[in-house]
Amino acid sequence: GFDDIGGQEVAKREFMEALDFVKDASHCRQLGIRPLKGILLYGPPGTGKTLLAKAAATYTNAAYLAASGSEFVEMYAGVGAKRVRSLFQRARELARQQAKKCAIIFIDEIEVLGGKRGRHTSHLEYDQTLNQLLVEMDGIKTDEEISILVVAATNRVDLVDDALLRPGRFDRLVSVELPDKAGRLHILKIHTRGKPLDAEVDLETVAKETFGFSGAHLESLVNEAAINAMRQRRDVIRMEDFLEAIDKVMMGEKLDRTPTKAEKERVAVHEVGHALISEITNPGYVARVTIVPRGRALGYVRQSPSADQYLYTRKELEDQIAVALGGAVAEEVVLGSRSTGASNDFQQAVKLAKRMIASGMSELGVVDMKEVPGVLLHRTVSSLIQQREAWVQRTIAAYRRKIEQVAAYLLQEESVDGTQFRSLVGLS
Ligand code: ADP
Repeated sequence: GFDDIGGQEVAKREFMEALDFVKDASHCRQLGIRPLKGILLYGPPGTGKTLLAKAAATYTNAAYLAASGSEFVEMYAGVGAKRVRSLFQRARELARQQAKKCAIIFIDEIEVLGGKRGRHTSHLEYDQTLNQLLVEMDGIKTDEEISILVVAATNRVDLVDDALLRPGRFDRLVSVELPDKAGRLHILKIHTRGKPLDAEVDLETVAKETFGFSGAHLESLVNEAAINAMRQRRDVIRMEDFLEAIDKVMMGEKLDRTPTKAEKERVAVHEVGHALISEITNPGYVARVTIVPRGRALGYVRQSPSADQYLYTRKELEDQIAVALGGAVAEEVVLGSRSTGASNDFQQAVKLAKRMIASGMSELGVVDMKEVPGVLLHRTVSSLIQQREAWVQRTIAAYRRKIEQVAAYLLQEESVDGTQFRSLVGLS
């Protein structure tokens, strides 16, 4: 169940919150709440998405049936669609056999089946298969004898057709990330449970040395360590077995090059810069700061989810520009120079500045963007950004010591939550 999944506290909590709708189906029905039909888990391979889906079946006392997107892709038109139909039928039958009221269908690699339409050469076949999935999901009713929940997984959420993400389909998205140090320690403990470890084995150190490893990597690491012990005809697994296994897994799995210490330090300073400016402009909203890579980002700052916002005031846009600049400025102030890591941030800042100009918030007054000459637009964007940059520079400089301290802590622990962060910088 969920206890055998290490780290992933946020994902587990969000996932279980969604599943409570399934557990409490009759209450939902009574209140007329639309049934939850689909949950999409997204994140890098080997992080526990399949484990989460299986645990969900146990948690909700549901029958469990798994499939992979690639099983539905066929040369011959109509075959994929037929397989989708049969999958839903089999799930209902299985639940009936097991005398369960609910069935969970897990579809791994959903992007293969539900990729953006019209992009494949044999697009007709893909379209039919995807359409059939939509038909099946739209057909799920609350008053059916057996309720069906589809849990899908992907590591390329950007490739998933938008039609699948609409309300009433996969309308819950849960992000499953690579584990940080504490998460890795938790996973190592789970996988060494009941195995004979030498008293000197220090899993804490193993966790520290495995930056960038997924849960699946850690599982194979523990297995390799045990194999090492067996080769030496020993009855216990020693620390040296683990250390050897780390190298083996790193080389064998061609793990993405792990960053150097200097790079990690830079990422830490950069993220603390973003987080500090965010906290000063919008107190209480930093939820987590981490240097564990996520997608293409080297680290990130997560903000507490707030209601979707449609209107932004001038101050809010200026604050967002400041937050975007915070990373690069912190690198400059603390480490003496900037790096290429900030280019996305700058694009973001430019976009925000243009939005301000288009909304008549700049010195140009109310303008038609199409008629603002390029040079003038450029100059106005620069001036808006420079005004904020000057303030960010002063703020970061004033907090320099604190930033260094928090970055050092972050380098050690890899992530801090919002409350910890606020108390470390003295803003709580
Ligand atoms: P995904 O579906 O995200 O690709 P899986 O759930 O199939 O990954 O994980 C593969 C294996 O790796 C699992 O069977 C388990 O042994 C190990 N594993 C992955 N993530 C975790 C985790 N968070 N906690 C414990 N074990 C994990």
